[in-house]
Amino acid sequence: MPEGHTIHRLARDLNRDLAGARLAATSPQGRFAEEAAELDGEAFAVAHAWGKHLFLEWTRAGLVHVHLGLIGKMRRRAGCHEPRGSVRLRLAADALCWDLTGPMVCALIPDAERDEILARLGPDPLREDADVDRFVETVRGSGRSLGVLLLDQAVIAGVGNVYRAEVLFLLGLDPRTPGRALTEAQARELWEEIRRLLRIGVRLNRIVTRDPSEVDATPAKMRSADRLYVYKRDECRRCGADLRTDTVGGRSIWSCDRCQAVAGQAYV
Ligand SMILES: [Zn+2]
Repeated sequence: MPEGHTIHRLARDLNRDLAGARLAATSPQGRFAEEAAELDGEAFAVAHAWGKHLFLEWTRAGLVHVHLGLIGKMRRRAGCHEPRGSVRLRLAADALCWDLTGPMVCALIPDAERDEILARLGPDPLREDADVDRFVETVRGSGRSLGVLLLDQAVIAGVGNVYRAEVLFLLGLDPRTPGRALTEAQARELWEEIRRLLRIGVRLNRIVTRDPSEVDATPAKMRSADRLYVYKRDECRRCGADLRTDTVGGRSIWSCDRCQAVAGQAYV
């Protein structure tokens, strides 16, 4: 599932491949045909990521907002062969294509709409301009649980269900712990740990949270069954106890009662 690391990696790869090039823009599926025609043949400027949102900016023709949602993908197709599946947007430069399929959002938008989207998002730990103090204040001022806060894109942008479960396990925090039970140092540590994990995710283009010393493999070489601590697992990797599954913030979360302590009173 795409979390913030996927989108930042996409922006990086798109910039490497396409920045400054004149692109052929088409919508093989047809649902973005009018918009693609406006962009076709124009020079692509840059891709930006903020949390799970991707913005594709052309030098003069426009700005495209993409949100992959749960099933969307944007994939590089060397050789530019016939599109596979329902390709909403294809960007082509010479023999290289990037195909967008299944997005929750793909829209040509005015600059003002991007500003509105960004105004609704919290700080993104993968961005250099991220406001960590805002995250710390929001979390510590809230009676909502950490499990709810971390999925709220207005609190922190880019964390999804996998990173949420994994980071809380790594820090020994029960998902039901209210934000206001954290000390300032704990809230900063939470941010730093999320940033560390997301950066590994961007580098590897997948989510890996295990400590390499526990697996006897580098993060890049870990088997998929070894990469996570608690997400969708039955037993705790550290103590062997059965994991608890709760619905927090509308999504399932896995945690260990022995390894993750509740601080203060929980409000789920
Ligand atoms: Zn445990």
